[in-house]
Amino acid sequence: MKTQIANSQQPIAKSNFKTVFETYNWDTLEQEIYAVSKTDVETVLAKEKITLNDFKVLISPAAKPFIEHMAQRSHQLTKKRFGNTIQMYIPMYLSNECQNICTYCGFSMTNKIPRKTLSDAEILKEVEHIKKLGYDHILLVTGEANRTVGVSYLKHAIQLIKKHFSNISIEVQPLDQEEYEALIAEGLYAVLVYQETYHEATYKTHHPKGKKSNFNYRLDTPDRLGKAGIHKIGLGALFGLEDWRVDSFYTALHLKYLQKTYWRTKYSISFPRLRPHQGDVEPKVEMTDTDLVQLICAYRMLDEDVELSMSTRESETFRNNIIKLGITSISAESKTNPGGYAVAPQSLEQFEISDERSTDAIKNMIQSQGYEVVWKDWDRSYVNSH
Ligand code: SF4
Repeated sequence: MKTQIANSQQPIAKSNFKTVFETYNWDTLEQEIYAVSKTDVETVLAKEKITLNDFKVLISPAAKPFIEHMAQRSHQLTKKRFGNTIQMYIPMYLSNECQNICTYCGFSMTNKIPRKTLSDAEILKEVEHIKKLGYDHILLVTGEANRTVGVSYLKHAIQLIKKHFSNISIEVQPLDQEEYEALIAEGLYAVLVYQETYHEATYKTHHPKGKKSNFNYRLDTPDRLGKAGIHKIGLGALFGLEDWRVDSFYTALHLKYLQKTYWRTKYSISFPRLRPHQGDVEPKVEMTDTDLVQLICAYRMLDEDVELSMSTRESETFRNNIIKLGITSISAESKTNPGGYAVAPQSLEQFEISDERSTDAIKNMIQSQGYEVVWKDWDRSYVNSH
């Protein structure tokens, strides 16, 4: 497979992100971000090249009045790099089995919900439905239950569906490097793995039990993916658990470290905000719509190439308005329950989605804003042309 050949030339990293992470302090960063002045923002906005330190300034409360300026710049940079295109994607939940306790998730182990893992026939039924909607790539999602949805289940699922999609991404439990290598050999293209929060103590509060309670193993996951030669890694923090500004700085730091270390890999950033689910947890820190726009624009100004992704967690109005401001991919018609499209549409979702419009409606909304819809990940076509 050509992706592997290209990525096998990636340098062997001697360090890992943890060593970089440990040189920063949460409280100091928080103080720095909240101490930014109007003049600091003006100085950064006058610069052509935005550094990580400048990013800190752009996500500060002091930069909020400059959001219009940031939005225009973000729009222009995105148009220059990605043209008038928005990629559409859809998640396919394979299982809601989970051995972790995550306080914010409907699939958390102690929640009394019916558990389900899709069989081969059910997976293919879901695939048939999704293909009819037009999608040519797929994001497979599971909870974390090694006995039911471990590496062999995932490997089998990829083998089963790969002839139907030009690329396959996963959002599942963190794996070891060799396990990723085995899945890449089967055709795995991208892995999304969000740190949830980079605040270690808060992380432990929200992940009290199960493998996910290991903060360092999760933090090290993108490094293992980079070493395994994955084509794309998706990063993000779950906004609401901690101060979104500090978590976003750490995410950007993580991104920059990975880009430098595993430079053949592509990266994407997602912006999940806490949504209602079974056994609600209230957001500790609220992130407003304006805050989210500010953050998206700041990411684009920091990095012209990174993909910025928006899910159906966000409202119809917000998603309509964000199209031109820096986003490069958007999901539609998402079901967050296994079998949610064709097998068991009524089963319990991981979290409630906000924008329930159909794929066609989202496609029309994108096109009405002068954008072309892309149904598969263009990077893969580029890799395969070599
Ligand atoms: S967030 Fe993931 S690991 Fe945590 S309970 Fe939900 S499905 Fe399980």
